[in-house]
Amino acid sequence: MTTDPPSAAPNPPAPTPGFEPAALGPSPLSAGAAELPVDQAQARLLDAVRAHRRIRLPESLPLLQASGRVLAADLHSSLDVPPHDNSAMDGYAFAGAALQPGQPTRLRCTGSLMAGVAPAQEALPAGCCVRIMTGAVMPEGADTVVPFELCHRLGDEVEIPADRLRAGENRRRRGEDLASGRVALRAGRRLQPSDLGLAASLGLTHLPVWPRLRVALFSTGDELVEPGQPLKPGSIYDSNRVSLGAALSRLPFDVIDLGQVPDDPDALQAALERAAAADADAVVTSGGVSAGDADHTRAVLERGGSVDFWKVAMRPGRPFAFGSLAGGALFFGLPGNPVAALVTFYALARDALLCAAGAMQLPRVRLQARCAVAIRKRPGRTEFQRGVLSASPDAGWSVAPTGSQGAGVLSSMSQANALLVLGHGQASIAAGDWVEVWPFEGML
Ligand code: AMP
Ligand code: MG
Repeated sequence: MTTDPPSAAPNPPAPTPGFEPAALGPSPLSAGAAELPVDQAQARLLDAVRAHRRIRLPESLPLLQASGRVLAADLHSSLDVPPHDNSAMDGYAFAGAALQPGQPTRLRCTGSLMAGVAPAQEALPAGCCVRIMTGAVMPEGADTVVPFELCHRLGDEVEIPADRLRAGENRRRRGEDLASGRVALRAGRRLQPSDLGLAASLGLTHLPVWPRLRVALFSTGDELVEPGQPLKPGSIYDSNRVSLGAALSRLPFDVIDLGQVPDDPDALQAALERAAAADADAVVTSGGVSAGDADHTRAVLERGGSVDFWKVAMRPGRPFAFGSLAGGALFFGLPGNPVAALVTFYALARDALLCAAGAMQLPRVRLQARCAVAIRKRPGRTEFQRGVLSASPDAGWSVAPTGSQGAGVLSSMSQANALLVLGHGQASIAAGDWVEVWPFEGML
């Protein structure tokens, strides 16, 4: 294996881990400020994360343990794969020049070649062929394989009927999968099963990957009770820490669970200190970022760090906070409503966190589906509805919103398998119109 040194990683280390408020521009929550369209919020997040990503030393992991992790360096092929021309079929190998248009070809069979056997020493004479198995090295002098089922065997002769085959067919060329010296995998890729197989085909046992991003997670709110404890009057169970913790855990992140934090500046300060002590790269919270809470939260977050409270033009999930803490950890303050917390995680925090983890490609499956019902909407904000996506009988996809779309109605999120996304400029749609859909599968 040859890999570029870590210094050639996608983002050079930031000179200072701090976060410059200027990178965010003026706070859209300031009086009279317009709401920030979702695509602009996404772009600002990515810009800020790229500029301030904390670079850690890559680790070398056995292939199976590297699954889902982010590759830390370009991987160059040190071999030709396959290492020799070989047969793509079980059949007879011969020189394709023997084929004549409109005429059957007769060849004398002189032997047999199995996969895994060193190549024959002497070249195949003209007018001859050898039995060859899939994967066996092509003998010198042969460039074509006729599958057994296409020809007739007559004693030690083989007859290929006229015009059934062209010269060069059924031969795999040396290096056709990967040529030596070429980039096999790019740094920043989240490793999927085929990538690990590709590394194995180069003879590798380990790959350099970025360490898992360390994400501290806590919920804020005086009303929150831990599941398993009795509910008090006026209290509710904390569900966000479970849904967000599960979402984070599906990504190449380690979750540092910091529990629940009451609506109290000292408690919030203590939680942030615990995140720093745990060496978190990022902090994700839910609750406490809506207009009523923002000032109190801002005062704590700005002690040494910098944070901005955004009103994002989206529903659900309008309030959103983003910044960095004194030690340089990124801060993502998601709204408290359970659906809004997950939707802002998917739409805003996911890509930024993956980028902080070193991922360069952030693929998200987006489909166009026919909407089963009419939906009323005003242009000027992005609306995310919970939807059920299904393959429609007349080809293509169709999607129907799940019942209640209230930002607190988690059951409708649970019934859904996708988000139906009505774009910023879009107005009401009629039943049967095409809409964008983000399936949950593949999102994490
Ligand atoms: P907030 O964003 O703090 O104003 O909270 C908005 C709504 O979400 C309120 O009804 C909260 O009770 C609810 N909420 C906040 N945090 C959680 C949580 N961790 N689990 C469930 N509901 C929550
Ligand atoms: Mg709250």
